[in-house]
Amino acid sequence: YKRCGGCSLQHMTYTETLRFKKNVVIDNLTRIGGLPNIFVHDTVGMEAPYRYRNKAQYPVGIGKTGIISGFYAQRTHEIINTDKCEIQHPMSDIARSIVLEHLEQNNVPVYDEATGKGLIRHIVTRIGFYTGQIMVIIVATSCPVPESDKLVQKLKDNIQNLKSVILNINPERGNVVLGNKNITLYGKDYIEDRIGDLIFEIPPLSFYQANPVQTEILYKKALEYAQLNGSQTVWDIYCGIGTIGLFTAKHCRSVLGVELIPEAIEAAKRNAARNNINNAEFYTGKAEKVIPELYRKGMKADVIFVDPPRKGCDESLLRTLVNMEPSRIVYISCNPSPLARDLKYLSTNGYIVHEAQPVDMFPWSYHVEVVCKLSR
Ligand code: SAH
Repeated sequence: YKRCGGCSLQHMTYTETLRFKKNVVIDNLTRIGGLPNIFVHDTVGMEAPYRYRNKAQYPVGIGKTGIISGFYAQRTHEIINTDKCEIQHPMSDIARSIVLEHLEQNNVPVYDEATGKGLIRHIVTRIGFYTGQIMVIIVATSCPVPESDKLVQKLKDNIQNLKSVILNINPERGNVVLGNKNITLYGKDYIEDRIGDLIFEIPPLSFYQANPVQTEILYKKALEYAQLNGSQTVWDIYCGIGTIGLFTAKHCRSVLGVELIPEAIEAAKRNAARNNINNAEFYTGKAEKVIPELYRKGMKADVIFVDPPRKGCDESLLRTLVNMEPSRIVYISCNPSPLARDLKYLSTNGYIVHEAQPVDMFPWSYHVEVVCKLSR
């Protein structure tokens, strides 16, 4: 019996998984973070922890019986053909089968990781849970894809709320799913979704939280920890398409967001405009370069949100934060051990870590998301 890793905690009850995740946070923060007295709240779980993901990435390959697609068996690149996945939105599974059928019927060559030959690598879907809008991304080594017009027609016929079909070109070998080049085969080059009362454009290459129900809980907690009173300058570091900063914009004087991916920053600017938010500005670049530069120019924040990728923050970024002395830092993390390392740095350089709130963004998987409140 093989698992993909998405449901690696299936041997526990859901309540046990929540306790497990809280203990992972406590363990990391006390052992690596050197924070023996840190208060960690109970993990906020989902009422219905199924079909929660708004993004699916199905690798495509050749199996014994023909073209297959599904998930990698845990810690391997062996594809398990998967018609139905209990943590994905049902429309993701449907889009996958339509594309797979098309590939089979038209003898479209699929990618072989071992040789680097072949065309179709992944089927990726993104779904706006609150708008219902659906994007299907076909990842291929090159273009064109045979009979792609027919494929688009089939997707349109079967998926009522299809808003976008993208051909993404990824010629590189390796683990990265999406390449840099997108060709819009149908519709718009983004979908829309809501968080709270804000609407967001989500383009294909940009990060967007994978669990929309829990995202709102996470952001509300982050906002609460920031203790905004309308007068503060807020920086949203690792801002993606601007969600956290824009979510907090009406509670502060101004928002400044920094993010590496240019496509995400363009979306962040459009998202500010679409929501009539005039007190937000966004910068493209590496946080560890942009933030020290802004600080050198004399710019400062009162409250800072950091939401880094899995490897955590660069020390040069943390050093700048310590020198800048914002009165509060809210640290949002998807990986407890780099979080603990970074909190150790901050807590030995003038910050108190008050509390940590784990939020179950990835039910049944071993992944842990947590938001932490710090003050100077
Ligand atoms: N806060 C956002 C995104 C968090 S994910 C949200 O809640 O949706 C982390 C983001 O950091 C991604 O968008 C990624 O592209 C970006 N990123 C990764 N490395 C970075 C770096 N060195 N500097 C700035 N942004 C970076």
